[in-house]
Amino acid sequence: MNERNVGISDPHSFVPSRKVDRLDLFREKYAAERDKRLTKDGADQFQAIDFIGKFSEFDADPHVDGPRESGPMSLDLDVLVVGAGFMGMTAGIELEKIGISNYKILDVAGDFGGTWYWNRYPGVRCDVESYIYLPYLEETGYVPTERYVRGSEIFAYCQSLAQKYGLYDHALFQTRVTGMEWDEDAARWIVRTDNGDEFRARFVATQSGLFMRPHLPGIPGIETFAGHSFHTSRWDYKYTGGDDSGNLDRLRGKKVAIIGTGATGLQVIPQLAEYADEVVVYQRTPTQVMPRQNAQTDVDWFKSLEPGWQRERRAAFDKCVQDRATVSDVDDGWVKFAKYQMDAVYSAGGDNPTLEQYVDALERSDYEWNEMLRDRVDAVVEDKSKAEKLKTYYRTMCKRPGFSDEYLLAFNKDSVDIVDTASTPIERITETGIVADGQEREFDLIVYATGFQGGRTWTDKAGYDVLGRNGNRLSKKFADGISTLHGFLSKDFPNLFLLGFTQTATITNIAHLIDEQAAHMMYVIDQCVSSGARTIEPTAEAEEAWGKVMSDQTATRTDWLLTCTPGLYNNEGKIADARNPLVSGVYVPGFQYFELLEKWRGDGRLEGLVTSH
Ligand code: NAP
Repeated sequence: MNERNVGISDPHSFVPSRKVDRLDLFREKYAAERDKRLTKDGADQFQAIDFIGKFSEFDADPHVDGPRESGPMSLDLDVLVVGAGFMGMTAGIELEKIGISNYKILDVAGDFGGTWYWNRYPGVRCDVESYIYLPYLEETGYVPTERYVRGSEIFAYCQSLAQKYGLYDHALFQTRVTGMEWDEDAARWIVRTDNGDEFRARFVATQSGLFMRPHLPGIPGIETFAGHSFHTSRWDYKYTGGDDSGNLDRLRGKKVAIIGTGATGLQVIPQLAEYADEVVVYQRTPTQVMPRQNAQTDVDWFKSLEPGWQRERRAAFDKCVQDRATVSDVDDGWVKFAKYQMDAVYSAGGDNPTLEQYVDALERSDYEWNEMLRDRVDAVVEDKSKAEKLKTYYRTMCKRPGFSDEYLLAFNKDSVDIVDTASTPIERITETGIVADGQEREFDLIVYATGFQGGRTWTDKAGYDVLGRNGNRLSKKFADGISTLHGFLSKDFPNLFLLGFTQTATITNIAHLIDEQAAHMMYVIDQCVSSGARTIEPTAEAEEAWGKVMSDQTATRTDWLLTCTPGLYNNEGKIADARNPLVSGVYVPGFQYFELLEKWRGDGRLEGLVTSH
């Protein structure tokens, strides 16, 4: 069956179908659904995957044949970049532009790509338009094949970027940092790795991302399962056959369970459904499923874009979701939802809505939007019991929405079942299968689409500690949350740039955030190098002031986050636990943060930072 043939006028459209009268009824329903999912442990419910030891088999890299071939290195560097994803690549490219070529890029992975190196599961695609997601499109002249390209295309693009800019000459893969310590006399970071390397670097750029380290659900018995199992970020194609476009032919005749229905589960499940004999989806919270609206790239259009188009397109995309006057040509589900909400606000309150009108209109329009998505589920999913389980009852941005034209259809197959574990969690995993709702089902394969460590400390996620000036440890300083100026530098950890979600902005297009962070870091490094500064770090006052900006920002979202169903964005319902940087401090809206940084750079005074010479 094609989705276009089902009952609602057009399941690919975004027309909210119904007005909402009784907000109180929606509030009650949403609160009841949230309460079912709240756990006493919050983010600690998950089980970590250790590098060595417990569950380390879930961390093994399926894309390399053996350990690193080259022996231990000892190098003096101007800059050491930890991480070879978009950030590491951008840093390398931009360092060359400011005349620094004595740098290395380290990664535990076997190649460039970061997220796109690891996440090669079947169905993987970017959920942000590729024209604004892929970096340096104007410089490379590369034309993405589709509006939302496959992960393999992004990974291949990363490799071609690395080739074009000579990054492979600077790369050291299959190398994990085990610790860093500041040498005050030399004004250098001493960085050690699991391969016995020792680097002495004037500057270090590192990150501890939300999606770096996979984790497992808090279900007992995972280690007892005698069948096959893996995490989606370590997909085992030797077992399933195929590649990210499908063809999982070795799953024929197999019974497969998948736990997790976030953005990853959404992309994987239709692929499993296509090939396995039986698929059981263990779902705790459904994800909103908006139309995908993918299309082949119109190459003539793409080539007709004027110079500077990518920067403009990115900026307009980010800005339009907060600023009514900005129009974005992207016009996808993100934009349509934001515009729908803003129209509601301004039609309720004119050009100057009161706070009450604003809050009320956002809530009402969100319920309307979700009614549309629930109607879409009814229109596509034939089995009413399955359809009920797939409907979402939480505010849209409580979780990252998903986009798919195949996901809901997969549930129309008799071979695909869904088990709702919201009220009755999965009891345990046994040698042969999964026990849930009093029933044990047997499986050949269990796929964990259960996400990544987001609610842990910076050093937990990074997997190493940093020893700064005067014996100060980052693990101690950041034990209850990150503390920086502008999300980059932290006092007593000079010349160490922290990148990723460290008191910066949160935006839909993370590639844009990375670009802005890289530009800012280059500016500061360039200033240090040209002025001959040995060290740079924030003053205590400046760091404290930025902390206040962050806590004020968080305070504006607290009430809303508390109403949300548990997830990464509200630290699984425990928003007082500041280890998760998304609840402890992010600047919203992102475009204002970028403007703030640009203005700070424009002043040219490095305000809030101190240098030593
Ligand atoms: P995720 O969003 O953290 O989802 C994890 C899933 O596992 C959730 O459905 C969660 O249910 C479920 N889960 C965890 N513990 C469970 C348990 N004990 N029992 C049953 N279910 C359990 O992870 P993800 O889907 O891998 O996504 C990670 C991040 O990457 C997200 O921010 C996502 O947006 C992003 N991503 C982006 C793309 C893209 O650009 N195309 C693709 C994939 C992922 P609950 O919701 O109830 O906790």
